[in-house]
Amino acid sequence: MGMARVVGEEKVKLRKSFVKPWMGIKYLFKKPVTIKIPYEKMEPAPKYRGFHTLDWKKCVGCNFCGQICPARAIEMTWIEVDGKLEKRPHPKVDYGRCTFCQFCVDVCPTGALGFSESYILTTGGLDEELELYNWVPINPKKVQELNERFGDYRFPVERIEKKPDGTYIYHLRDGSKVEFKIVGYGLRPPKKPQPKPADKPAEGKDTSKSETKEE
Ligand code: SF4
Ligand code: SF4
Repeated sequence: MGMARVVGEEKVKLRKSFVKPWMGIKYLFKKPVTIKIPYEKMEPAPKYRGFHTLDWKKCVGCNFCGQICPARAIEMTWIEVDGKLEKRPHPKVDYGRCTFCQFCVDVCPTGALGFSESYILTTGGLDEELELYNWVPINPKKVQELNERFGDYRFPVERIEKKPDGTYIYHLRDGSKVEFKIVGYGLRPPKKPQPKPADKPAEGKDTSKSETKEE
């Protein structure tokens, strides 16, 4: 069998044409095939693999999703809701890495992780807006409700507010909020913070000075 021969670029002779360069003019009179995101939308195919959803109650923190993810886009995250630590960690998805393959959804044994058809995520490039790219997905019912209400396939969260103590507030598009605190990452529960030595009053230290100053 003969080997396929690759012809060097310099040997490819291009036929000169007077007409060809002018053929592009016809596109000036055609409707553009591109759409103006986020002002226009394109109907996704049924079961389009868009943004994730997560039922926090169903998630058992097994990390199967994190293990199968080919892009390493999932980080197991410990969160506190209403001051109470969730019993298991939940996945946080980084859309800077995610390829929307949805292997994580297929492998989830409890059906906690799902996906919505929403796919439009645009920002003005501000730091706080870029937080949107890295989130703990929210309840599928809420995402579906927002999809039905707005029908434009945009990300369900408008803004993520982050406080210095680790509190995250997801401002949803309908004005409601999802609030929780991130207290650690990984599979093991976070250790309770130990009081710093500086916080403890030193033995034999005279604290009356500062009290006197304040008076
Ligand atoms: S989302 Fe599913 S696969 Fe991932 S940790 Fe929770 S239960 Fe496990
Ligand atoms: S959709 Fe694929 S790439 Fe994205 S988080 Fe899931 S497994 Fe990873």
